[in-house]
Amino acid sequence: MTNCVFCKILAGDIPSKFVYEDDYCFAINDINPKAKKHILVIPKEHIESLNEVEDSSLIAKMFEAIKKINKQENITHFRTQINTGSLAGQEVMHLHIHILAN
Ligand code: 5GP
Ligand code: ZN
Repeated sequence: MTNCVFCKILAGDIPSKFVYEDDYCFAINDINPKAKKHILVIPKEHIESLNEVEDSSLIAKMFEAIKKINKQENITHFRTQINTGSLAGQEVMHLHIHILAN
C-alpha cells in the first residue's frame, strides 16, 4: 500500500528502528508513546484492520511475537490493545497491536 505509514516503514521509506522482526511481523516504538514502553506489533502484510483478517493464525503469530518482544524488553506487566475502525480510535489503517507497559 503506497500511502500507508506502516508499509512505508517496512519498506524503509520512513526510517524507523525495528525492535523485533520475523517472517510475519515487525515491531517499532510508538512515535507518541502513551506509556513508558509503547510498542506496536505490525503484520508485514497490509491488512486494514482486525475486520479484514482472513487467516486467524496470523493473530496467534503476532501474540507469539509479543511474548518474544516482552522477554527481550523485560516487560512482564503490560496491556495489549487493538483499535478497530476510526470510531474506535484507529488512526493507522494497517492492523497493529499496541503493547503498553509502565
Ligand atoms: P491507532 O490509533 O491506529 O491504534 O494507533 C496508531 C499508532 O501509530 C499511534 O499510537 C501513533 O502514535 C503511531 N504512529 C503513527 N505514525 C507513526 C510513525 O510514523 N512512526 C511510529 N513509530 N508510530 C507512529
Ligand atoms: Zn500498510
